[in-house]
Amino acid sequence: MMSIIKRNYSLKKHNTFNIDVKAKYFTIIQNEKQIFNLLQEDFLLKEKILILGSGSNILFTKNYNGIVVFNQIKGIKIIEEDEKCSTIKVGAGEKWHDFVLWSIKRNLSGIENLALIPGLVGASPIQNIGAYGMEVKNTIQKIHFINIKSKKKIIINDFDCKFKYRDSIFKNQLRDKVIITNVIFKLYKKPINNIKYGEISNELQRIKKDPSPKSIAQAVINIRNKKIPNPKKIGNSGSFFKNPIVSQNKFMKLKNKFPDIVYYKNSTKKIKLAAGWLIEHAGLKGIRKGDAGVHKNQALVLVNHNNANGKEILSLARYIQKIIKTKYDINLETEVNII
Ligand SMILES: Cc1cc2nc3c(=O)[nH]c(=O)nc-3n(C[C@H](O)[C@H](O)[C@H](O)COP(=O)(O)OP(=O)(O)OC[C@H]3O[C@@H](n4cnc5c(N)ncnc54)[C@H](O)[C@@H]3O)c2cc1C
Repeated sequence: MMSIIKRNYSLKKHNTFNIDVKAKYFTIIQNEKQIFNLLQEDFLLKEKILILGSGSNILFTKNYNGIVVFNQIKGIKIIEEDEKCSTIKVGAGEKWHDFVLWSIKRNLSGIENLALIPGLVGASPIQNIGAYGMEVKNTIQKIHFINIKSKKKIIINDFDCKFKYRDSIFKNQLRDKVIITNVIFKLYKKPINNIKYGEISNELQRIKKDPSPKSIAQAVINIRNKKIPNPKKIGNSGSFFKNPIVSQNKFMKLKNKFPDIVYYKNSTKKIKLAAGWLIEHAGLKGIRKGDAGVHKNQALVLVNHNNANGKEILSLARYIQKIIKTKYDINLETEVNII
C-alpha cells in the first residue's frame, strides 16, 4: 500500500528539542516496498529527502523544504545461531532501548551498556552510538539500506561502514543518500561484563548485583536517569558536542595550564578530552540566552527551556564554540545534526 503523504506537517513531536518547524511533506514508511513506491513518485524527484528516526540527534533551524520520511520498519528476529553468538535482524524503526531490553531478556551481551539511549535502531550506526565504555560498531555485522538515487537495495558489511568515534560512512559519503531499513547484529552468549567505566561498578555495588547483561543495563539505566536530562521534561538532544581528540603534545600543554583537565586515554596515541569539562571550566554551565541554555548540571547538554527556536540554540552553540576556541584553542565539533 502507498504511504500517505501529508503537507505542511509540524515536526514538533518528532524532535527531542521540541522545535516547532514544518516539513513541506511528511510520510511514514513501514516496509521496503513502500520506500520503492515512494521513490517512484514523480513529484518527489526534485525534493530533498530527510530520513527521520526519533529526532533525538537533530536540531531543526528552519522549516524543512522537502520530504521527511519517518522510518517505522519493525521486527526483531534471530536469523542465525551457534554456541557462541546469535545473529539478529532488526528493523530500522524499532526503538533502540526496546532492542536492548529484548537482548537482555535472552541473556545476550554486547549492547547492555547502551541501555536507555533514545532513538531508533536505524540511526544507531549513523553516529556509531556509544556510552559507558561500549560502541554499537562492535556488534553490527551488516546494514541493509536503499540508495535513494539508484533505488537499489544494498547490504554493507561492518568493515565498510568506516566506524569511528561518533562517526561512520553514513555521516559522510552516504549522508542523506540512503535509507537504512535493517541492521544485523551479532550478540554474544558469554557476557562481556564491561564495567570498566567507574560509575557502573559503584552502581552495581550499590544495588548489590554481580555483573551480568541485565544488572549492567540496570546500573546504566539508574545512572542515566540521575544524570541525563529527560527530553520529555526539558527539550535537548543529549551531548551537543563531541569530545575533542587532541595530540599528546597539545594535551601536555593544556595539562600544564589546566592541571584538573578531564581526559580519556584510548588505544591510539591521541587523547580524548571531556568537552563537558571544557565548557564548565569556561564558566558556561547553566548559562541562558533567552530560552536556549546550557543545562545546569550537564555542561555538554544544550536545552530548550521552553520556546527557543533552532536558530537560537544554534547561536548559543556557536557562542560556546567561540569561547572554547579562545580559551583552549580547541575546535568543538557538534555531535547533533544541524538541519
Ligand atoms: C537525552 C539524550 C541522551 C543521549 N545519549 C546518547 C548517548 O549516550 N550516546 C550516543 O551515542 N547518543 C546519545 N544521544 C543521541 C541520540 O540518541 C542518538 O544519536 C540516536 O542514535 C539518534 O536516533 P534517532 O532515531 O533519534 O535519530 P534522528 O535524530 O532522527 O536522526 C539522526 C541522523 O540519522 C539519520 N537517520 C535516522 N534514521 C535513519 C535511517 N533509517 N536511514 C538513514 N538515515 C537515518 C537522520 O537523517 C539524521 O541525520 C542522546 C540523545 C538524547 C536526547
